[in-house]
Amino acid sequence: MQMNFIANQSAPALAGQTIDVLDPSDGQVFEQIPRSQAADIDHAVQAARAAFNGPWGKLSAMERGRLLMKLSQKVSEHAADLAALEQRDCGKPTKQAAADSVALARYFEFYAGACDKLHGETLPYQNGYSVLTWREPHGVTGHVIPWNYPMQIFGRSVGGALAAGNACVVKPAEDACLSLIRVAQLAAEVGFPPGAINIVTGYGHEVGDALARHPGIDHISFTGSPRVGTLIQQVAAERHCPVTLELGGKSPQIIFDEADLDAAIPVVVNAIVQNSGQTCSAGSRVLIQQGIYEPLLKRLGEAFGRLQVGSAAMNLDLGPLIRASQLERVTGFLDQAKADGIATVAQGQIAAGVPAGGFYQAPTLLRDVPVMHRLAQEEVFGPVLSAMAFSDEDHAVELANATEFGLVAGIWTRDGGRQFRMAKRVRSGQVFINNYGAGGGVELPFGGVKSSGYGREKGFEALLGFTTLKTVAIAHG
Ligand code: NAD
Repeated sequence: MQMNFIANQSAPALAGQTIDVLDPSDGQVFEQIPRSQAADIDHAVQAARAAFNGPWGKLSAMERGRLLMKLSQKVSEHAADLAALEQRDCGKPTKQAAADSVALARYFEFYAGACDKLHGETLPYQNGYSVLTWREPHGVTGHVIPWNYPMQIFGRSVGGALAAGNACVVKPAEDACLSLIRVAQLAAEVGFPPGAINIVTGYGHEVGDALARHPGIDHISFTGSPRVGTLIQQVAAERHCPVTLELGGKSPQIIFDEADLDAAIPVVVNAIVQNSGQTCSAGSRVLIQQGIYEPLLKRLGEAFGRLQVGSAAMNLDLGPLIRASQLERVTGFLDQAKADGIATVAQGQIAAGVPAGGFYQAPTLLRDVPVMHRLAQEEVFGPVLSAMAFSDEDHAVELANATEFGLVAGIWTRDGGRQFRMAKRVRSGQVFINNYGAGGGVELPFGGVKSSGYGREKGFEALLGFTTLKTVAIAHG
């Protein structure tokens, strides 16, 4: 049985309750985690406050950086074990789980190097004054993490917060937290003081809510659904606690007639099938210029037809979805598409020999999806790609911006002027031209506009969100 990790000690939930953990590949229970409550959060917040006021808060930026670098190295040494934990927990194919543990080490490495480069400014002011700004940590930061990329999201969120000098209380998703408990243990092994990193597991409406409400939390970093993002924001507003919201997306891949289709096709397919489409930045809409609509759909359909879904250990193109309710959600969207006369271009295959009881969904390419249909508006969070045609740049922009989301956009064109015009007109936090995702992009600020959230994580920019600015004015005559 797994335990919370508070003040560098393993601890069961104070009330002694547990939650079963399912393996998405066969639907069987293989582990238990604590079902924590508000009292466990209180315990963790007290530990974090003691760390912030004590040994952790007293470290210099250089010393924090050295600890983060040691943690990066430790994670690299344990990359295979961490990947195995996350693979079983989330149903990720081996290659995806391995990539996630490499990314986790890279986040810590990046933020290790960033710690002592974060500084304020001196400001010109009236004669007789010197004015400077200090970038100070918030204090104790709360981090609510979803189940789709636990290690990566922990790396970017907690890595940035620690680099800025905060002590962290982390609430992983109830479906996937095993790797994060292990990372916190590794952090203790490399010398992070007790209370710098605390992990408290449990249900969102219980322990996540308690974290957001706790008066000892000075900043909340939430990554998850828009619905829960709204709840967190409301709760945080009661005590004016700053929040960073990394929410959902309905990201477009926009492909013009003159695009390099050989380059685009594998990237467009991967952008929706990676992690079985359970990715906030999944390229879930493909907008295709009229002149290449039919030939490109044919080629995309052939690529979809070759995709194979299997158990995590089978390491095929896609693994299972996280849980039964997620599978029902995705099949619900597909049933509605059928009922509304939306045509399927192609589907991949569920491989022979997948274990019974797993949550498998074949990747599906749909065509001529009306712009206001649910499939073109809502996050499916599964391997479903909705195609639609556009006539010119204005039409492409209109379709691209016609959802409540604005997280990421991909633009495929060889026309240099069009690249810039489109990048300016599409409303999203990131734009990729002739690529998508730039290989993970630990260094690249990430976040959304509109209902995709606000604030930025990843890159140096994240450090600004994990700090507060103090202005110091000295009158010296
Ligand atoms: P979710 O919102 O259901 O859960 C996310 C986390 O919030 C979990 O840890 C959950 O336990 C917790 N939670 C649930 N109710 C809560 C409450 N009342 N108070 C506090 N915490 C609560 O989302 P999910 O289903 O785990 O993840 C999928 C969603 O996350 C999708 O919408 C996806 O786009 C989004 N996401 C966004 C990003 C990003 O960076 N923008 C990254 C990954 C996932």
